[in-house]
Amino acid sequence: MDKFVEAMQMMAKMTDEEKMKAIDMNKSLCICRACPSYNDCAKENGELLYCSLGSSPTCITEATVCICTGCPVTSKMGLKNLYFCTKGSEKEQRGM
Ligand code: SF4
Ligand code: SF4
Repeated sequence: MDKFVEAMQMMAKMTDEEKMKAIDMNKSLCICRACPSYNDCAKENGELLYCSLGSSPTCITEATVCICTGCPVTSKMGLKNLYFCTKGSEKEQRGM
């Protein structure tokens, strides 16, 4: 089975507390802060983990470089997309 679909199924079985812990763990692995597309507004708002939480609400409107392929979350979650801060979460980009 697709790794991301498997990860989503695992998440669906988690309690809210477990989900929050998993999100915090992945946030700590997120390398968006090192990306040229990441800006001060996103930093000030503590935005991270766009691949799971969805696009940047107002801070990042244009992204010309994406370094998500080098992020541990990409292999961990089996992500296939990029530019989550502007295009939406992996789930959204897959039309799930
Ligand atoms: S894949 Fe991209 S958006 Fe997701 S945690 Fe890694 S750097 Fe952040
Ligand atoms: S999702 Fe990709 S483009 Fe957006 S800030 Fe993170 S690494 Fe950069």
